[in-house]
Amino acid sequence: MIDAVVIGAGPNGLSAAIVLAQAGLKVVVFESNRTAGGGVRSAELTLPGFTHDVCSAVHPFGIASPFWQTLPLSAHGLEWIQPDVMIAHPLEGGRAASAERSLDTTAAALGRDGEAYKRLVGGLVRDWPRVSRAVLGPLTIPRHPISLAKLGLHALRSIQGLSTSAFRDEPARALLAGSAAHGMLPLDRALTAGVGLTMTALSHIAGWPIPRGGAQSITTALVKHLATLGGEVFTNSPVNDVDKLPPAKIVLCDLSPRPLLRIAGHKFPRGYRKKLERYRYGMGVFKVDWALDAPIPWTSEACRRAGTIHVGGTLAEIAASERDAWSGRISDRPFVLMSQPTVFDPTRAPAGKHVAWGYCHVPTGSTTSMLDRIEQQIERFAPGFRDRVLARSVMTPRDLELNNANYVGGDIAAGVVDLRQFFFRPTWRNYATPVKGLYICSASTPPGVGVHGMCGYYAAKLALSGLGLSRS
Ligand SMILES: Cc1cc2nc3c(=O)[nH]c(=O)nc-3n(C[C@H](O)[C@H](O)[C@H](O)COP(=O)(O)OP(=O)(O)OC[C@H]3O[C@@H](n4cnc5c(N)ncnc54)[C@H](O)[C@@H]3O)c2cc1C
Repeated sequence: MIDAVVIGAGPNGLSAAIVLAQAGLKVVVFESNRTAGGGVRSAELTLPGFTHDVCSAVHPFGIASPFWQTLPLSAHGLEWIQPDVMIAHPLEGGRAASAERSLDTTAAALGRDGEAYKRLVGGLVRDWPRVSRAVLGPLTIPRHPISLAKLGLHALRSIQGLSTSAFRDEPARALLAGSAAHGMLPLDRALTAGVGLTMTALSHIAGWPIPRGGAQSITTALVKHLATLGGEVFTNSPVNDVDKLPPAKIVLCDLSPRPLLRIAGHKFPRGYRKKLERYRYGMGVFKVDWALDAPIPWTSEACRRAGTIHVGGTLAEIAASERDAWSGRISDRPFVLMSQPTVFDPTRAPAGKHVAWGYCHVPTGSTTSMLDRIEQQIERFAPGFRDRVLARSVMTPRDLELNNANYVGGDIAAGVVDLRQFFFRPTWRNYATPVKGLYICSASTPPGVGVHGMCGYYAAKLALSGLGLSRS
């Protein structure tokens, strides 16, 4: 007898399944792909012996996840590796801004902007224990309204506005802008400052770690832990219609609105269906994985020691690139988010060889190849990079969507995260739907994009309370 079905074995689906299984329910997870993990998987995408991350690579939210911190994931093989430098941001002339684990070291390297950095980013680091619940959860009455109001004051601004008013020099401005660009919005939009501050502060709070062996280790640990609680994951098992599922008290969908409508749209009242149809997806992603003969020859020493490298130059250049992708134009100098895991984890490539991971934002559904433009950007700061490439794997927005129905048009955030869709994600009901027992638990619910499992955690808690079981 099954109590609960979860559709989709992404980090949120698996986290939801664990919460339900912890409450003593018999849970099964149906996953359409041939492997579990959704946006958290690794594979030999280029050459034998080279392990690439298919989607997520660096996990500041994963290590900071309040739910995962309660799970014995290390007993199931998950080991976080902290790079020497969390984020490096190369600039012309061999310079780079960087976020190290230490707030003080980072601030000191920013010269006359160091004090402002400590005030802004350091303020959030200090307040994190009081605001993390609000940042990594749904909208509720705040337990610490003053700390939250302080964060909100800055967070609701645009990163362009905040960076140019708070900092005098390019390194600090570019560093914050690079982090803000993860939010997939033009950098003059409200809330981009919140993304930039939170992402940067996480490098001092929990770090920007990579899992040993690749992102797959996170999924493997979650699946193994679920199994100890009696939960089962069935791969190669797409759900095409919720009415065809085995009978269960609860169904949780690790789906964004578009694929949800395909399998459950007929069950919803018209008003709710319309709301889901109006849910907005944003820009797409063009991704490249490289097998390399040697480490990337960055000119800057900080870049050679970093786990994540933000390649795109100045705040103005990054803003232009993000504006282009948002407005449907191809940027000739795209902002590229990169990771070089084998600098810290040699298990992922043959001896002396390396892998690298990178992507840029593109117009939704774009079919233009960005490979040459991305590599030109890397060559700007690491001359000779191309000579080290042994093989490449490319994923267009279409490939990403074919791989995972949640990423409509290649939008890896499963929906625009602007002010409206931050709070009403995907509708004001968040995890609940008008159908009794049917819930949404994907990154299209709060707190949204990122590998942390908190959407699944909160959705499952709500589902349990619907059964009259504890929510605490
Ligand atoms: C290229 C890329 C890079 C990223 N980089 C990072 C990063 O470095 N750090 C980070 O924190 N985040 C990153 N992300 C985002 C992160 O991967 C996602 O936010 C996260 O995976 C969302 O988790 P989820 O459980 O909501 O959904 P998903 O991970 O999308 O999982 C949903 C699952 O549902 C399955 N599914 C869909 N439809 C059906 C169906 N009808 N029946 C059965 N199964 C179905 C899918 O196959 C998938 O396995 C990245 C994403 C991408 C694509």
